Amino acid sequence: MKALVLHEANTPFDLTEVPDPVAGPGEAVAKVFACGAGLTIQHFKAGRVPAVFPRIIGHEICAEIVEIGEGVTSLRVGDIVTSYFYLNCGHCRMCKRDLQPLCDNFGGYVGREIDGGYAEYIKLPEKNFIVLPEGLDWQNQPAHVGVAMDALATPFKVLRRARVRHGETVAVFGAGGGLGIHQLMMANWAGARVIAIDTKASKFEACREAGADEVVDASDVDVIAALMELTGGNGIDVAVDYVSVTSTLEAGARALAKAGRLVTLGGAGQEFRVSAKELLNKELDILGSRYVTPTDIRETYELMRKGEVWPVVTEIRPMEEAEELHELVENGAVTGRAALRIA
Ligand SMILES: [Zn+2]
Repeated sequence: MKALVLHEANTPFDLTEVPDPVAGPGEAVAKVFACGAGLTIQHFKAGRVPAVFPRIIGHEICAEIVEIGEGVTSLRVGDIVTSYFYLNCGHCRMCKRDLQPLCDNFGGYVGREIDGGYAEYIKLPEKNFIVLPEGLDWQNQPAHVGVAMDALATPFKVLRRARVRHGETVAVFGAGGGLGIHQLMMANWAGARVIAIDTKASKFEACREAGADEVVDASDVDVIAALMELTGGNGIDVAVDYVSVTSTLEAGARALAKAGRLVTLGGAGQEFRVSAKELLNKELDILGSRYVTPTDIRETYELMRKGEVWPVVTEIRPMEEAEELHELVENGAVTGRAALRIA
């Protein structure tokens, strides 16, 4: 099969022929139609996070099961699937509670510890394939369907984690990024008043199109003052921070209204200070949200099937242009999401 192989970190893709994968016991093989090209896998490619090489990266797939191994019961040939990004054990106390991202026996990632979707075929353990609902329009937009397993499912999970309710005010830090844009969309879908915060004014039009009611240019104004002004001095109900440097985390926490919730998605992962007195007096929640569960992914695709949400994908390239596509991703030049069309 044709595959984009990375022989080492921070080297160009090698578009080459490799042996077709064969499903072993408990595994299945799928034919890949499209695979998302997000910042997470660009971090692998650039060597900013350790990965084992040679490697075929990519996990945001839209694919069709073509072979199932011995003992596989939950998949059938012909199923349309995406992947579950984390290699979790499926039987620890966290997995049993449907908290798979917190698996005690976490084994790494699809496209990092094992080969991923930048190839004509992908082999994964049975539980790392998630069957998509019938009636979802994957034929015409496989790239959109592929990226949704992260681009929409992650923001969808944040809504649940932060208990976002209709009519609340949600501010998104890093709103112009590939996940931020979709967080605006999902918060808008949930009936919230949505405020986009970013330092790149060039992204604000896309933020508004995605569902932002207001935009705040953090390179130009005091973010806390702007958020207080936009909320009549009450503060925001929910801050979602995709940047998570000290300054954004502290701004988000300080701008919270009574009973407010701050959610960090990791980002830079820096430390920050928050007053215990403020936490107490306003009954604030400081939350982390790590990836999604398979249930979150299934529910997100159900929303897509019903036509309630659909991801923004502005760059779709063939395998031959993977290198150029990743340069755009590296430079933050993509609005919404990017993807490779494989077949
Ligand atoms: Zn587990």
